Amino acid sequence: MVCLPAAGFVEGAVPGLEVTLETIKRRFGACASAGAAGRAVDEALSALGFDLEKVLVANSTCPDELNRWEWASGFNLGGLGGIPAVGKTGFKACASHASSDENAVIFVFCASHVGVDGNDLGTVLRPKQSKRTTCCGAAIGSLKCDILNDDDAQMNEVKLSIDRARVGDDQALLAEGVYEYSYRKLAHNIRYLSEVAPVVVLGGIQINTNVGLPDFFAPRAFVLIDKGSDAALPFQDKLEVYLDKLNASPIKDDEASQDED
Ligand SMILES: [Zn+2]
Repeated sequence: MVCLPAAGFVEGAVPGLEVTLETIKRRFGACASAGAAGRAVDEALSALGFDLEKVLVANSTCPDELNRWEWASGFNLGGLGGIPAVGKTGFKACASHASSDENAVIFVFCASHVGVDGNDLGTVLRPKQSKRTTCCGAAIGSLKCDILNDDDAQMNEVKLSIDRARVGDDQALLAEGVYEYSYRKLAHNIRYLSEVAPVVVLGGIQINTNVGLPDFFAPRAFVLIDKGSDAALPFQDKLEVYLDKLNASPIKDDEASQDED
């Protein structure tokens, strides 16, 4: 799988995209534009025999507004950093919203996130702002202080998620570490979802770019959990086939200008 936005990309048409892509490719490897990842998920769910009209989407992503990708938004399981924060009660509530029809599925999107600004990681220029801000701000903030606070439960969880000796101040390792912790917490509670329906989980890292550029996604896991099971059946290879195919289609206008308004 390659890290390209689209075969139809015209050099210079989206200023800054090529430098950003080079940074993403160097630090995160294979990825797809956010839109292409969404289309890959739809194709994969259909190929698995699920009815796209009967998908309950649940997301465990950071509350940062940059992460509200349309295809990945639904029942919100996540807290700061994207770490599942709703506990057993929230997972059971989510499960109760799933269709009981045949061919229904719960699709869970579990991701940490990181900003990319040209050659740099950890900041991004957001819509309506003139200065870059940190991204993921919670994960970066957790590197500066590891004292837990009574009234800051989600931030406490972010602090607990990070292996400082491994991460140092490397933003790519920070995103990978928060994701891995999030995925483990998700796996711990996934049985509450798979009690009622098959579950497909896409895990990885959301890559937020400066206003005017498309966001990207670096997949790390793509698994199916059968109804009544909590054992994940990996089909990462299959996702890569879909992402490769979709990477070869042009970026849609709505992707190239998604952050402009
Ligand atoms: Zn964040």
